[in-house]
Amino acid sequence: MAVAPLAEQSSDFPLSFEQRISGACGVALPNSDVPSAQNDASLPQHLRSEYKPNLPELGELDVVRHMTRLSHRVFSIDENFYPLGSCTMKYNPRVNERVAAMPGFAHLHPYQRESDVQGMLELHYQLRHFLQEISGLAEVSLQPAAGAHGEMTGLMIIEAYHRARGENRRMVLAPDSAHGTNPASCTICSMGSTKIRSRKDGRVDLDDLRSKVDENTAALMITNPNTCGIFDDQIADIADILHAKGALLYYDGANMNATLGIIRPGDVGVDVMHFNTHKTFSTPHGGGGPGAGPVGVCKRLSPYLPKPQVIKKSDGTFAWDYERPESIGRVRSFYGQGGVLVRAYTYIRSLGPEGLRRVSRRAVLAANYIAAQIKHRYPMPFPAPYAHEFITVPEFSDLGVNERDFAKRLIDYGIHPPTMSWPIMHCLMIEPSETESLATLDRFCEVMIKMADEAREQPELLRSAPHDMPVGRLDEVGANRKPNVRWRPE
Ligand SMILES: *Cc1c(COP(=O)(O)O)cnc(C)c1O
Repeated sequence: MAVAPLAEQSSDFPLSFEQRISGACGVALPNSDVPSAQNDASLPQHLRSEYKPNLPELGELDVVRHMTRLSHRVFSIDENFYPLGSCTMKYNPRVNERVAAMPGFAHLHPYQRESDVQGMLELHYQLRHFLQEISGLAEVSLQPAAGAHGEMTGLMIIEAYHRARGENRRMVLAPDSAHGTNPASCTICSMGSTKIRSRKDGRVDLDDLRSKVDENTAALMITNPNTCGIFDDQIADIADILHAKGALLYYDGANMNATLGIIRPGDVGVDVMHFNTHKTFSTPHGGGGPGAGPVGVCKRLSPYLPKPQVIKKSDGTFAWDYERPESIGRVRSFYGQGGVLVRAYTYIRSLGPEGLRRVSRRAVLAANYIAAQIKHRYPMPFPAPYAHEFITVPEFSDLGVNERDFAKRLIDYGIHPPTMSWPIMHCLMIEPSETESLATLDRFCEVMIKMADEAREQPELLRSAPHDMPVGRLDEVGANRKPNVRWRPE
């Protein structure tokens, strides 16, 4: 390894394979007391192998340093502000981790007898009732493992409901601001999807909706507040329009951060919804997991929920109920994403009903506060008030600077880029969440305003950002489509 100053070393340190010290070993294993397979004459030749895995040879301390250094490159909510729209990167209270790590939860095995896991079953039972109360829906299943999985489950339930009534409805409507997983879930369920126009103010165009609902419409999937950060106050009318044609209303409840304790989907005509407990009810979920996507349904749909369902028996004990003849069946192995559900339960219990309402009030306040502070520099396509997030379309294209350049420059300021270019082109979608201090929100506003100045005075600074990171701009499409994450010897 060449001798380089510390700054250079830490910005591009070698792979563990490249640091190899021949013969070094991080662990001390006892000598084997069975004969080596290569010398074992009783073993057929084709089962004997000279193969030695190609592992980096390093001492324990070198491994620890390597891994710790790598971990510092991770951009996380625990270190930095993370205003990622439509994904609620809120602080994850440590008490959740403490409870999820309790051996009585963490060491359970799904094959244990019901009598041995009464605590976990009771937690499932209570959590499903909390979610029923929060959503105003009749029954919740905790089984789906993520938001998109909840969508698929919800659509399967909708399909089963129509089929039981002798109908085969194959079309799902979704506003043009819908999350990408909505049409994708329709495809997974072999259903078509049709876009419904939004009005200039971000709300659903009811005339367009009326003209598209017909006897083939299975449901409308709606996110409310929608991904433009706008709460659609026509939600009850939308439900009526669908119900009048025998269709159902699906509510994408991935982001309930603006509505907890304020509005319940079940009270305004929603028939099916999914929750993202990892967003609204706090589980660290950067990098794709883990999650849980419970599904809630109104009374007439509850026979179709996945099975088994956790129930409380007349003697007060808890059990899995498999006697659900109209159920769509299982949507995953076993019972649900255990540790994530423990975190959601802990979060809800530690806040209580008033605390949950305060979460939403603060989340809405934080988003509107930022919008008000920066709107003189960042045009907002939709009029305030916003829900827990809002979108802005920075207008700097005359300077050759676009939303991506703003997002990349934010990294230099230690702030995670917001969601970009969705639901409308060239936008930034900003969701601060309720857990940030006023000082953090103020600093973010200052940074945004400073970046607007930079765009005018030194546009190149934005165009070539980030400058203070180990790597600059990556081939993001390439990294997604053709990820190369395996090291191979030359
Ligand atoms: C995150 C999100 C989803 C998908 O949830 P996953 O857990 O990532 O599958 C669906 N809809 C909306 C609106 C979301 O924000």
